[in-house]
Amino acid sequence: TPKPRVLYLGAPLRYKQDQFKEFCEHFEIITEEVPERQKFIQNLKDKKYGDFAAILKPHFESGNDFRVDREGKRFDKEIIDLLPSSMKIMAGGGAGFDPIDTIELGKRGIYYCNCADAPAEATSDTAIYLIIGVFRLLSWAEQATRCRDPAVFNDVHDKLLTATCNPNEKVLGMVGMGLIARKIARKARALGMVLHYYDPFRAPKEVEEEYGLVYHEDLHEMLAISDCVNLSVPYMESTHHLIDEAALKAMKPGSRIVNTARGPVIDEKALIVALKSGHISSAGLDVFEFEPEVPKELAEMYNVTLTCHAGGGSRETIVRFEELTMLNIKTYIIDGKDPISPVNTKVVKTALF
Ligand code: NAD
Repeated sequence: TPKPRVLYLGAPLRYKQDQFKEFCEHFEIITEEVPERQKFIQNLKDKKYGDFAAILKPHFESGNDFRVDREGKRFDKEIIDLLPSSMKIMAGGGAGFDPIDTIELGKRGIYYCNCADAPAEATSDTAIYLIIGVFRLLSWAEQATRCRDPAVFNDVHDKLLTATCNPNEKVLGMVGMGLIARKIARKARALGMVLHYYDPFRAPKEVEEEYGLVYHEDLHEMLAISDCVNLSVPYMESTHHLIDEAALKAMKPGSRIVNTARGPVIDEKALIVALKSGHISSAGLDVFEFEPEVPKELAEMYNVTLTCHAGGGSRETIVRFEELTMLNIKTYIIDGKDPISPVNTKVVKTALF
């Protein structure tokens, strides 16, 4: 019998060559390096790839056209309607899956599997870096060192003495208590921080006890008592501008905010206003509302630590993307079991049964 066919999108694998060799024993692979949107649509219309059972896209950063931009979803209904009826599963690297319309895929009976666990360790480390950053303003210290001007060096050295304080015994208000937040919680405890959280789904008692978490049913109530607010929520309609002008106003005067989730969770314009007024004393941002565009105002603020959506990007993360995307497809198509990390199970099951 012919092997099921897999459409491989994006850059080649970097690490899991042995696993890929085994994967190829089960599947015939069709490769497409950079699927630009219009070209990809035309190829699907022309049935260039023939029938295929799965799409494998381990590296989320290649094939930029599928990523979210100002116009919204890119792997959308227009593309999904053109997928062959043989298609059963799509497995993509990355934790967030906002560029993919997983509901539309689900309605066609197609699973979408992400790799939520892969970047959790790295992202939590980045959050800790930014949390330390917003208390100690070390990126300001770095700039003062890199400019190699002795006067600036001495000036910033002196200013840091009174401009900064320790995270120890300060309240970290955590918005979202999922996979990444729990890792941040464990590490923030090691810094001596006091942990509060808000999540529409309260964590189990064991988790609260293990990490020493105080639960708040009301977001703004927690914002009011937090010295630093950490965002670890998925980006969706209900979290768009979750931190808006009103939320920023609700925050404790002089407090700080860290975002490793997604840019549009914060109303960036409102944040800039709050930073300018001093109501928010510092921000640590890995993600931006219109990234890769970064507002000039933020870039020029000495009290803001910025990273280029580097949060989850480490070698271990990429290894896991490669491993888990292949494993999801093989488990479902070859072993006949449920995929390991689907995100749209309910819709798929409704469509299939
Ligand atoms: P997760 O699904 O394990 O946890 C998310 C938590 O947010 C859940 O507990 C959920 O109940 C909660 N939540 C949902 N809506 C909320 C709301 N309105 N207010 C408060 N909490 C809410 O996800 P995770 O693995 O912890 O990742 C969180 C997000 O981080 C991802 O969706 C992704 O967008 C982002 N991320 C960023 C990077 C990076 O490089 N910066 C890397 C990985 C993930």
